[in-house]
Amino acid sequence: PGRLVTPERREDDTADTSLRPQNLSEFIGQRQARANMSVFIEAARQRKEALDHVLFVGPPGLGKTTLAQIVSRELGVNFRATSGPVIAKAGDLAALLTNLEDRDVLFIDEIHRLNPHVEEVLYPAMEDFQLDLIIGEGPAARSVKIDLARFTLVGATTRAGLLTTPLRDRFGIPIRLNFYDVDELELIVKRGARVLGIGITEEGANEIARRARGTPRIAGRLLRRVRDFALVDGAEKIDRKLADKALLQLEVDAAGLDAMDRRYLQMIAVNYGGGPVGIETIAAGLSEPRDALEDIVEPFLIQKGFVQRTPRGRLLTGHAFRHLGLAEPQRDPS
Ligand code: ADP
Repeated sequence: PGRLVTPERREDDTADTSLRPQNLSEFIGQRQARANMSVFIEAARQRKEALDHVLFVGPPGLGKTTLAQIVSRELGVNFRATSGPVIAKAGDLAALLTNLEDRDVLFIDEIHRLNPHVEEVLYPAMEDFQLDLIIGEGPAARSVKIDLARFTLVGATTRAGLLTTPLRDRFGIPIRLNFYDVDELELIVKRGARVLGIGITEEGANEIARRARGTPRIAGRLLRRVRDFALVDGAEKIDRKLADKALLQLEVDAAGLDAMDRRYLQMIAVNYGGGPVGIETIAAGLSEPRDALEDIVEPFLIQKGFVQRTPRGRLLTGHAFRHLGLAEPQRDPS
């Protein structure tokens, strides 16, 4: 069901909670983010104060939720999690906030999808640890202030540009997460195999890592699917050959692109001569929401040099044409 390599969370991903690293030292990759976080966490701990509010920015599946949990564990405080679209009313957020204890971590995933009324409540809560509530209506209405515990808000979003400026400005610690390189993903696959009790060779792990789209969540998911193939084949260990066979069967190509990625590239290549073509046009052609393309499909393709974002639209590179096995059109140099 759905896209196997989609970095978004899926139903069957509940299994990947077992793969979650528990502390910063177990967390692989994102060296700079980790180094910064450990300093800020240590400082907050020594001062016995709440950590400043943290914003994690990056494509889905790179470890934002995992890091938020690690932060609370390292601080030795409670972890409460919710997400932007789940908080329907200002009162829902008020209920969450008033239940927090000193220095607790409140994690809000997809924080860019907060309703504006809810966001208004968040500003004074983040800044002054106060809740401003209006009680009653009309001339009898009055505002009351409620003091909150000094908590840490950890927000996660796919693109910082999706946040309103006042919200973005209230995070003292903005942290960008980047796609992982193959070496890091290989360590993640090997660790995952260890945790799940799966036999795998160095080369088998490398093959999965190379095709995981720079994303730990996908690496974990591919590992579990390849394991199924190993089981049915009666193979004791996942080696490169088995991984390759399984991944091809799953339509994950040698570059880690899946059917959706290839449809996207093919659309620009075949229907628009390689572009430039506007994102709205591509979205309409593929019958996919523009947001999903921008958040999930494009970041990896851009990072890998398959597509460029230009002021006139998306432009396919020679690399993409070669990957698709298509001839690159002669573009006039203007
Ligand atoms: P996000 O919140 O950014 O969508 P998650 O934190 O849910 O991503 O991570 C997805 C999965 O990937 C987790 O369940 C975890 O198993 C795995 N994961 C993420 N980052 C790492 C990492 N650095 N090392 C090992 N596993 C990781």
